[in-house]
Amino acid sequence: MKQALVEQIKGRDNLFEKPKNVLQGRVGNFPVYVRQGIDGTAFWKVAVYAKEGSTLPAYQMDSFLTELRSGIKKVTKTSFDGKRIEIVVRNSGKVGLQIREVLDRAVSYLAQNGYVPCCSHCGEEVPVALCSINNAMDFMCDSCYNELCNSLEDNKQELAAKKGNVVTGIVGALLGALLGGVLWVLIYQLGYIAGIAGLVAAVCALKGYEKFGGRINAVGIVVSLVIVAAVIYLAHNVAYALEIKKAVEEVWGMNPSFMDAFRSIPDFRAEFPEINAGYWKDLLIGYALTAVASFATVKTMFQNSTGSYKTGRY
Ligand SMILES: [Zn+2]
Repeated sequence: MKQALVEQIKGRDNLFEKPKNVLQGRVGNFPVYVRQGIDGTAFWKVAVYAKEGSTLPAYQMDSFLTELRSGIKKVTKTSFDGKRIEIVVRNSGKVGLQIREVLDRAVSYLAQNGYVPCCSHCGEEVPVALCSINNAMDFMCDSCYNELCNSLEDNKQELAAKKGNVVTGIVGALLGALLGGVLWVLIYQLGYIAGIAGLVAAVCALKGYEKFGGRINAVGIVVSLVIVAAVIYLAHNVAYALEIKKAVEEVWGMNPSFMDAFRSIPDFRAEFPEINAGYWKDLLIGYALTAVASFATVKTMFQNSTGSYKTGRY
């Protein structure tokens, strides 16, 4: 984090950067962190940990948050779940000063309305420390953090012990991918390259593998994606055969069967270079769209498949 920004945000409070790109500490009584780079680099997140105290707030939290959104331009989102306020701030030139203002307003609201600092999990008024669980930050007490780490570890052990069935998994992946394949053909009829159908194929194949096979691992993910690529290839050829059938009917007035049209695809591609070029172009763009669209899903499934996790305490 740039030093000038750090100075603007911390003001007179004892905030420090740990881990990288996260300023944390106390403002007034309340645990606070400010994180740079949410959704790429476009946003910051400000979180303040507090719950209602023994006296009911004189001024409603909802009204306060609405006021915050309209009063400070760069504030795009606010929420309160009973234990933490989260505020998203758009990144730009004066962001440091605006975040400072957000902190000041939030903390003075909380103090004036009887809120007290608390743990984000048990909600108790106990000492907390900043933790990260799979890259999400939270203030937690020791026992909540340990409990969470234990349950993540249990989940990992459980997944490792679970036996999957590759054969039924493949059947599931095939069924899922076919769903996307049908959608591909339908959308192609409308004149679009069906990246969204590729996404459906990939997600359904992966879920299908998991559902039918009991669990999915790295091998299962790779097998599912190969099946998706094959089904998309098949779907693309079916879509082309339908195009050829239509063209032959319209241009030559003949009525070829679907299978004849399907078998004639190589001839058409050899005969007409522009058809061949279009065939490859649409297929490759379709593959690329599928890969881009399903990347996040594949990544998450891959992480979930082993139950691997990353925790930190700062
Ligand atoms: Zn706790």
